[in-house]
Amino acid sequence: MDTKAFKRSLQQSDNYHRKGFGHEAEVAGTMNTEYQSNLIQTIRDRNYRLQRGNVTIFLAEAFGFCWGVERAVAMAYETRQHFPKERIWITNEIIHNPSVNQRLREMNVGFISVIEGVKDFSVVGSGDVVILPAFGASVTEMQLLKDKNCTIVDTTCPWVSKVWNSVEKHKKRNYTSIIHGKYAHEETVATSSFADRYLVVLNLEQAKYVTNYILNGGDKDEFLAKFANAYSAGFAPDRDLERVGIANQTTMLKSETEAIGKLLEQTMLQKYGPTELNDHFMSFNTICDATQERQDAMLDLVKEDLSLMIVIGGFNSSNTTHLQEIAIEHNIPSYHIDSAERIISRQSIEHKPLGQEITVTDHWLPEGKITVGVTSGASTPDKVVADAIEKIFELKASAIA
Ligand code: SF4
Repeated sequence: MDTKAFKRSLQQSDNYHRKGFGHEAEVAGTMNTEYQSNLIQTIRDRNYRLQRGNVTIFLAEAFGFCWGVERAVAMAYETRQHFPKERIWITNEIIHNPSVNQRLREMNVGFISVIEGVKDFSVVGSGDVVILPAFGASVTEMQLLKDKNCTIVDTTCPWVSKVWNSVEKHKKRNYTSIIHGKYAHEETVATSSFADRYLVVLNLEQAKYVTNYILNGGDKDEFLAKFANAYSAGFAPDRDLERVGIANQTTMLKSETEAIGKLLEQTMLQKYGPTELNDHFMSFNTICDATQERQDAMLDLVKEDLSLMIVIGGFNSSNTTHLQEIAIEHNIPSYHIDSAERIISRQSIEHKPLGQEITVTDHWLPEGKITVGVTSGASTPDKVVADAIEKIFELKASAIA
């Protein structure tokens, strides 16, 4: 399919919107009331630190809502205002944040349900309004909605579109897209739908396996089994790894995306030599600023002498998980929670350890004076962060009382 021509024709259609509807001012007011927090503003004003009783909070200097997410949520609110009577759907969670998605449900925005791994679009009728989330939607989904004559409100973050453009360039010049991401993540599903040939690698270890195959060959069946579900139909490693371009899920760990890019570049250099490198390797800078800033701020935060770290964000949020990885690498006890309610008491916290199921840990809050690092993923409103901080203050104060 000519995905570029399809996108062009979609964008020219009267039923397609990727800018707001002129209700920015009203929506900004509502969003401030619902998602902003005075406590967070105070902490920002005090150089990202706040001491109360025997607790000192160290807040990351970049955290929470990124502009792409804020833009997507604002567009969803505007859509409701602009189409007060129409049925409105979202093809997925607009962002990975339970409180934001709950708020949209209250505004009578429906979520397309997933039945046995497949989205059920049968509920969507001609003339309905459908919002595409910040991390985008696959070409097949967009085509289906266009064919149903829906009004499409596309909130895809421009950074994600930038990755799609890179993939289009790979395709045009006959390169296989090597996508650093999680193959089942909605953003990567969307990105790969623009590629003719692709392979998704999760981490540096998988990338090393691929580069070893490029240099030394290997067992094709083992390769295909290892990357099951993570490559395009008919992928043949011996043929399709001769010319590769790099793309990424925008929320992956920046240092890892860079390391994977470098590794593939060096591999192609070693195999084909400097004069032919450009015929075998292609890379564009598509690492999102917001992800990078949050990760850099986290790297600064872990330099502090912290008793523990609270990482707040949806449990299926990639960028939040990566923030937690940084805490773990620095041996700081860290708790990934998605709302203040997970902080059950002074004794117990319900949280999601990296790569594990949600669990309850006891004796998580140390006695006496403590320093607590706090950060949150790109889809977490300030208010959720403030609630968690207040809860910690309260629990520690009640220990003294
Ligand atoms: S994290 Fe980056 S790519 Fe994702 S929505 Fe935010 S600004 Fe866009």
